[in-house]
Amino acid sequence: MTSMTAPPSTPMSSKLIRNLTPDQLPTVHMPACEARPALKGQKALVTGASSGIGRGIAIALCAAGADVMINFVGDEASARAVVDEATHCGCTNRGRAVAHRADVSDETQVAGMYGRMRDEFGTIDILVNNAGLQQDAPVEEMTLAQWNKVISVNLTGQFLCAREAVREFKRRGVQKDVSCAAGKIICVSSVHEVIPWAGHVNYAASKGGVFQLMKSIAQEVAPWRIRVNSICPGAIRTPINMPAWATPAAYAELMKLIPYKRIGEVEDIARLAVWLASDEADYITGTSLFVDGGMTLYPGFEAGG
Ligand code: NAD
Repeated sequence: MTSMTAPPSTPMSSKLIRNLTPDQLPTVHMPACEARPALKGQKALVTGASSGIGRGIAIALCAAGADVMINFVGDEASARAVVDEATHCGCTNRGRAVAHRADVSDETQVAGMYGRMRDEFGTIDILVNNAGLQQDAPVEEMTLAQWNKVISVNLTGQFLCAREAVREFKRRGVQKDVSCAAGKIICVSSVHEVIPWAGHVNYAASKGGVFQLMKSIAQEVAPWRIRVNSICPGAIRTPINMPAWATPAAYAELMKLIPYKRIGEVEDIARLAVWLASDEADYITGTSLFVDGGMTLYPGFEAGG
């Protein structure tokens, strides 16, 4: 047994974060994880996949062997770039990818997207309900249009896409060579399904709604071997929250909310999405998984209160 020298005793107060400067904290190293074909033969739809978290998830699902539909609403060139990136890395186990334009808050367009999914891939095994947006304002200035827009994309859009997926999962049932489950739905929610957010009441309400939407669907469809879960990101480096990380001053301010002292990257979310969609997570349903570097740990108390 190797003997270890006891560290010099340190007074409790000097171990607390308030006594440390950033250069006294460890350098950030992102985890290196090999891509495994855990989703070979599965068909996935990722909404809002032309940028940010959706883009990262789509690429990771494809690297794990799934065929992926990359939904977008605006920028077709970006969606095509995601198709290229998802399918051209030289890895032999990669799936196929196609891009499809649809507004997830529009019932007819969602039905059309599932029609295309059937034409391209035959069925669906994995839905990632990721599309979302913010339209921020103090509550007294928030317009009904701002309220309705955020609720209709972030919440109604998740309902419309989940409803179509459940219809197909139930129609087709379990194909045991593909997966133990008849289907998997992953809702991209937010830490704001539990953390109130002043100035963003429409967004926080939409994510609070996703919390109960996810759990209620999960409870209803579990007997059909359909799994429904949420991923709740903290602050992830994407276009939606660029003002929070784009300057050193903003980044330093953001770190006050993150005990782990680094911003999240889309890969942090994408890796979890692959695992959650795989049979390794077969007994997990109705759960919100927080990927937030500790943002939900009441960081205001990290220096002892
Ligand atoms: P993003 O702006 O890069 O991605 C959102 C995507 O949704 C965009 O591609 C956008 O075009 C798409 N979209 C918007 N309206 C749509 C519609 N009607 N139909 C189809 N697609 C539509 O930002 P992101 O950070 O990648 O956000 C992805 C999800 O992650 C959102 O649901 C967001 O609420 C959630 N989230 C992000 C963070 C973060 O820190 N970035 C934190 C918590 C939750």
